[in-house]
Amino acid sequence: MSQHIVVLGAGVVGTTTAFALAADGHRVTVIDRQPGPGLETSFANGAQISACHVKPWAEPGAPWQALKWMFQADAPLLIKPFRWDPDLWRWGLRFLTKCTAAQARESMNRALRIAIYSRSVLGAWRQQTNIQYDQVLRGILHIYRSPAEFEKGKALAARLSEFGLRQDILDPDACVACEPALAHLATRDLVGGILSPEDESGDAHRFTAELAKLAQARNVTFRFGETVKTIDRDGKRICGISTDRGYVEGDAVVLALGSFSPRLTRELGLNLPVYPAKGYSITAHVTKSDAAPTVSILDEARYMVFSRLGDRLRVAGTVELGGWSMDLDPVRVKPLLDNARETFPEASDYGEVAPWCGLRPATPDSLPIVGATSFENLFLNTGHGTLGWTMACGSAKVIADLIAGRQPEIDLEGLGIARFA
Ligand SMILES: Cc1cc2nc3c(=O)[nH]c(=O)nc-3n(C[C@H](O)[C@H](O)[C@H](O)COP(=O)(O)OP(=O)(O)OC[C@H]3O[C@@H](n4cnc5c(N)ncnc54)[C@H](O)[C@@H]3O)c2cc1C
Repeated sequence: MSQHIVVLGAGVVGTTTAFALAADGHRVTVIDRQPGPGLETSFANGAQISACHVKPWAEPGAPWQALKWMFQADAPLLIKPFRWDPDLWRWGLRFLTKCTAAQARESMNRALRIAIYSRSVLGAWRQQTNIQYDQVLRGILHIYRSPAEFEKGKALAARLSEFGLRQDILDPDACVACEPALAHLATRDLVGGILSPEDESGDAHRFTAELAKLAQARNVTFRFGETVKTIDRDGKRICGISTDRGYVEGDAVVLALGSFSPRLTRELGLNLPVYPAKGYSITAHVTKSDAAPTVSILDEARYMVFSRLGDRLRVAGTVELGGWSMDLDPVRVKPLLDNARETFPEASDYGEVAPWCGLRPATPDSLPIVGATSFENLFLNTGHGTLGWTMACGSAKVIADLIAGRQPEIDLEGLGIARFA
């Protein structure tokens, strides 16, 4: 039955949700405070569709590593706990409870379920719509700079293979054969690589913007420049959405506000353990095409990704847990630029580099919160953390299935809010 669905947020998660709902014949209204789709965290991320990179942050050893990095301003993971921030402390305590081997294994299994599914939904939509977003379907190459890290990578690859994911172990020569732009690094400290040939990359913002156009042609209305103030309830139902421009009613509401989701659910008594994990990227203009990679690369030693987006090279990484500030800190940008210059020195003249930061909506177990709530017409699609682009299309399809009363195509065990009860 066709309904009117209100989607809060037009990032990659909200926009894919609107598209999936419109495919079911619903009338959809999307509300976002920005002037267009995908302008916050979905804007300049690492661009990877990386089903093979689902290892959760919370694992044994993570607290110790985080502690060691706490006083290093340019560390890959920086936590700022010495401020008045009860949200971070609560989130951190939950995170600590997830740092066991058993929980890490469980979280990875759950993440794989939705990430692999999402990659297949993206592929299907690409075929249906011929959407173009600087996609590169040549896999993702994980590169290693030390034998110990490479051994760890191989152990993980063996586990991923058990899930039917292809993992090709490459020596440095094979890495260069796969990606000739790595020739420079091969003379320095490249010890090997693991290619995930079924993974992909592409510009999440361009995808979101193009999909929004397709959605508009299918009965989706975007209300941009409008800020959601409250989600209003009447008993166990959501009766409407108050914004700075008025009041919107719908048969059902999907919350997809990324890192800002908890602010809107608090008054409903729904505490979402979603906290902003700030990350940075730089985008450089490619000045020498064959010196820049085309295969998307994950530099495991430096916690950074390189993705080719047409004539641009995106370098992304770093995590900072320290609130919702969107200030660009040059100290956090510098390691990205330094690594790009060192790894692909001739790819760009690095003259015109666009720095950016975004707030990953992170949960303590690195899994999204997707599904129904105790309110009969409120659905959650948030908390995708480091993998929102990877998981967006699958999460969107799950929400559309739930609203249509269909059985989702994957098991939702461990992916909903109930796991934090
Ligand atoms: C540096 C970096 C690199 C990353 N690399 C990758 C990667 O390679 N692969 C991957 O899969 N993921 C990656 N991610 C993660 C991914 O970008 C996010 O998980 C994803 O963008 C989250 O999408 P979203 O739609 O939930 O949030 P957002 O894109 O933030 O969308 C939320 C929307 O809600 C709107 N909003 C918020 N509050 C209000 C309000 N009160 N009223 C109205 N509108 C509101 C915002 O304007 C925004 O448009 C990366 C993230 C970062 C920061």
